[in-house]
Amino acid sequence: MSLNPKTVHREFFGLPGAIGITLGLPTLITFFELVTNEKYSVQGINLDLDTIANQIPSFAELKQYAFDSNCWKAYLTWFFGLVVLDFILPGKRLQGVALRDGTKLTYKINGLAMSGCLLGLIAARVYASEDYYLPELAFLYANKLSLILVSTLFSFFLAVFVYVCAFIPLRTANGKGTSERILSINGNSGNPIYDWFIGRELNPRIGSWDIKLFCELRPGMLLWLLINLSCLHHQYHTTGTVTDSLILVNALQAFYIFDGVLNEEGCLTMMDITTDGFGFMLSFGDLAWLPWSYSLQARYLALPENKLVLGRLAISAIVTLHFVGYYIFHSSNKQKSDFRQGKLDHLNFDSIKTHTGSKLLCDGWWGLSQHINYLGDWFIGWSWCLPTGFQTPLTYFYVIYFGTLLLHRQVRDEDKCRQKYGKYWVEYEKRVPYKIIPYLY
Ligand code: NDP
Repeated sequence: MSLNPKTVHREFFGLPGAIGITLGLPTLITFFELVTNEKYSVQGINLDLDTIANQIPSFAELKQYAFDSNCWKAYLTWFFGLVVLDFILPGKRLQGVALRDGTKLTYKINGLAMSGCLLGLIAARVYASEDYYLPELAFLYANKLSLILVSTLFSFFLAVFVYVCAFIPLRTANGKGTSERILSINGNSGNPIYDWFIGRELNPRIGSWDIKLFCELRPGMLLWLLINLSCLHHQYHTTGTVTDSLILVNALQAFYIFDGVLNEEGCLTMMDITTDGFGFMLSFGDLAWLPWSYSLQARYLALPENKLVLGRLAISAIVTLHFVGYYIFHSSNKQKSDFRQGKLDHLNFDSIKTHTGSKLLCDGWWGLSQHINYLGDWFIGWSWCLPTGFQTPLTYFYVIYFGTLLLHRQVRDEDKCRQKYGKYWVEYEKRVPYKIIPYLY
């Protein structure tokens, strides 16, 4: 079999889907900003289309926002500042899963040093500030619309860069001849727009620096943390107080962000790293979609007319939901990972041994449903939306979007596993019939 087989099945309805997502999702995050930006927003986010239509900036205005030189300088400093830190901060070296040519890539895992460095920097800035005023956070809050457009354009150019690089042959170790790059199974259709969107090369790298892992957990995730903080900062400096709802959203999402960054080695076995190519879908998803759509709740709560005080009872209920979700999400992912590494052999868990040598766990969390980890993750999503109260469905966008993403991911993963494990997967489905929610679906 060839190292890089031609893509036969196209995701997202092929080219029309790729074009639709490329145009639609940047428009959606821009829309979110227009309805949560004090300059444009309608009182309390009234989704009256006529009122919104009257407030949409003209094309010329949007162009000005998209090419604001200060915002480009700020974004490039942020992105390449993190690249430099990624290079210099120490970390352990871990190997990823075996690739189709039998080799394994080595990844530098320095999430702990990176988080410490960023938190130290924020703490130092707060300490040196007068009345907790941080000009960087004020700049971020005031320029959200520009920064959305800038990060979207940047992700577009990055996707073009990795797409073009995917055609440049790699030099072999002794410098003679060339060797083939490993392409994504989904991104070798031959249609340039589709392959650019879905990601042609599986693991684009500059030397040993892995662009995909860096984008997955650094510039977007950490920008999300800063956007949330900028909302808190804005509320404090405009009203003199901070509400418990906004503190709660900041705290729960910061917990999730640091959990992801600190457990980055878990990423090495995730579908994004092992199977998906790096194209516009992931580049935009990591750099623009994630920070600017996941911060919607904080941006909504930061608007003066949406100030919301929850009280202890509501906070306790939401925090409980969050930690129940987190417990399911974390312990099920850990159980699968420990099981696969042979750390749970003494527990004699029920499992199916497949022809590939891998075992499919049918016990513990993984006896309840095929993706019980998705359910925990979805509960966490609810705990981020509930602090916004029930004034608008807009702030519940995340749980609807994420539920759809997880359903789609489950179908993709099932297709992959059915192909990989054949009759063993059929046996597994008999033993564990529910896909995500035990006894329901
Ligand atoms: P899973 O962690 O469920 O991993 C699926 C893979 O695990 C399969 O492809 C298969 O791989 C292996 N596997 C499946 N069933 C079993 C079993 N019974 N026993 C042993 N191995 C099995 O999926 P994801 O990688 O999609 O998700 C990982 C986590 O990331 C989830 O908790 C998810 O919620 C979260 N996530 C969060 C996102 C966000 O934006 N917040 C986005 C996407 C995911 P193999 O080929 O090795 O057998």
